[in-house]
Amino acid sequence: MKEIQDFLKEFQKEMNWEIPDGKYNESRTALLNNYMLLTTEVSEVAEEFRAVFNKTAKIAKENEVSEEEAFRLSKECHQENIGKELADCIAYIVKFANYFEIDLEDSIYKKMHEVKHRVNKDQE
Ligand SMILES: [Mg+2]
Repeated sequence: MKEIQDFLKEFQKEMNWEIPDGKYNESRTALLNNYMLLTTEVSEVAEEFRAVFNKTAKIAKENEVSEEEAFRLSKECHQENIGKELADCIAYIVKFANYFEIDLEDSIYKKMHEVKHRVNKDQE
């Protein structure tokens, strides 16, 4: 994860896509713009999922195969694009982590530990 954070830090510098860290209003505007871009990318993941489901129905209907087989074929067709959209999402998430000087690997382990050990209030 550290490698990815370092890579994206350099990439964003090279592309001149960094979140400025000087004047409050400039940082605030850049953070909000990047947040909007992240939500757009999350929507693009949903669009890919929708395309997978639509293609599953089409394949199943046109080829007389089971839905499971059609789903497998459809996932295969969209695998690359889903990967691209997930990468876009991660790039923005890492950008925020880098801006706030967060070690994402450490955060992920700590958060998942917390999730694993928290008491589910619905079951109390
Ligand atoms: Mg995208």
